[in-house]
Amino acid sequence: MTCFLKHKWNGCKCTRCGKIRDEQHDWDGCKCKRCNKTRDTQHDWDGCRCIRCGKLNDLYHDWDGCKCKRCGSVRDTLHDWDDSNKCKRCGKNKPDYSSDSDFDFGYSLDSDPQYDRNGYDENGNYSEEHDDYYNVS
Ligand SMILES: [Zn+2]
Ligand SMILES: [Zn+2]
Ligand SMILES: [Zn+2]
Ligand SMILES: [Zn+2]
Ligand SMILES: [Zn+2]
Repeated sequence: MTCFLKHKWNGCKCTRCGKIRDEQHDWDGCKCKRCNKTRDTQHDWDGCRCIRCGKLNDLYHDWDGCKCKRCGSVRDTLHDWDDSNKCKRCGKNKPDYSSDSDFDFGYSLDSDPQYDRNGYDENGNYSEEHDDYYNVS
């Protein structure tokens, strides 16, 4: 049965045909009690998860190392590396720090382009040739 002329609304739901309108919902927190529609406000957070609609938030995870015990979200910190440099919890591979330039102690001034531009030679002396080079008009 459909209501051609006039629905008999009870909140968001027509009591005669069961049609739902998107107004006057009967909100219970984030969820409408009548039609189960959810809205993105007044969630009932249990840690990172809303107990009514199941939505997740990133603020209240229950972290166990790198992984949330409730929802399984993973963060990129406090990994639990095993012998093969893989995280036991999330499976991430451990980054190889030896190839990171911050850890390269073989760094030398000779390879620094900035060094050349300043006109100093490999012994740290100011190079005359440098002036000649740049004074060419
Ligand atoms: Zn109706
Ligand atoms: Zn509703
Ligand atoms: Zn919710
Ligand atoms: Zn979580
Ligand atoms: Zn991990």
